[in-house]
Amino acid sequence: ATPMSVMVGVGKAAEYGALIRQGDALQTAGKIDLVILDKTGTITEGHPTVTRVHAVDGNEVALLALAAGLEQHSEHPLAEAVLNKAEQDGVEPEQITGFEAFNGKGVQGNFDGQSVRLGNRRWLEAEGIAVGELEAAANAITEDAGTPLFLALGNRALGVIGVADAIKADSRAAIERLHQAGIKVMMVTGDIDATAKAISAKAGIDDYRAEVLPENKAEVVSEMRGKGYTVAMVGDGINDAPALAAADVGFAIGTGTDVAIESAAITLMRGSLHGVPDAIEISRATVTNIK
Ligand code: ADP
Ligand code: MG
Repeated sequence: ATPMSVMVGVGKAAEYGALIRQGDALQTAGKIDLVILDKTGTITEGHPTVTRVHAVDGNEVALLALAAGLEQHSEHPLAEAVLNKAEQDGVEPEQITGFEAFNGKGVQGNFDGQSVRLGNRRWLEAEGIAVGELEAAANAITEDAGTPLFLALGNRALGVIGVADAIKADSRAAIERLHQAGIKVMMVTGDIDATAKAISAKAGIDDYRAEVLPENKAEVVSEMRGKGYTVAMVGDGINDAPALAAADVGFAIGTGTDVAIESAAITLMRGSLHGVPDAIEISRATVTNIK
């Protein structure tokens, strides 16, 4: 495209709330044939809420107090959900020492001389904690597209907390527009398979990869580029920065973290996925105009 038509295209995209930070992104955007979406905060609102609290001994208050004690120290969107629930129910968080967060796994600390952990099943099992007793409660959570967070004190599982994040009202329509433009849509998430499957079905996504550790999201992008796709990656979090940088075009959700915004060629100021088909359509029109 001529410098003039690129300028017009960049201006047009800005009108739609898509800020193009890297000049060549507008031209590349028209060639995108695969869009990879992060789940939390990208397809979903990013403000999950607690849907269920299940304690093995029936003491839900004690369970929530420990979970909230841990999440007080975390900045993950899941932490916000647990803390809001504790506050609503008037549950005082326990004092936890030695807090540590494990990316894509969960959070850990010390309470009453024992380690306390809240996170996904795979991580707790890797730490030698059996969670089989909580299987039915966890399944009820994933069936509703929620995420089960298991809590263990020492090596004993005490319960599971269900957290669900609503899909943004317009995500499905934006994904449908991508399909109409002949583009394949995939989701990558650190969340478990059952939850990823339920969210994909609700949002109309073609394919997904679940239980992808934050550091491996970029590898999925590179793998798909290696298969010949021109890949757009859309994300909002710190975790997403390497994947955004690895894509042909990175789209950062403007309401996300600064790190994500700096790593992406295009920032979507309106927080809506419609910005992706908007930018692609403008790019295709810009490039066609000068042919
Ligand atoms: P996403 O791809 O949805 O952004 P993450 O990679 O941040 O997910 O996290 C993946 C999984 O790790 C979560 O679904 C959860 O099971 C666990 N996890 C991460 N952080 C926390 C936390 N603060 N509290 C509980 N669980 C967590
Ligand atoms: Mg995320």
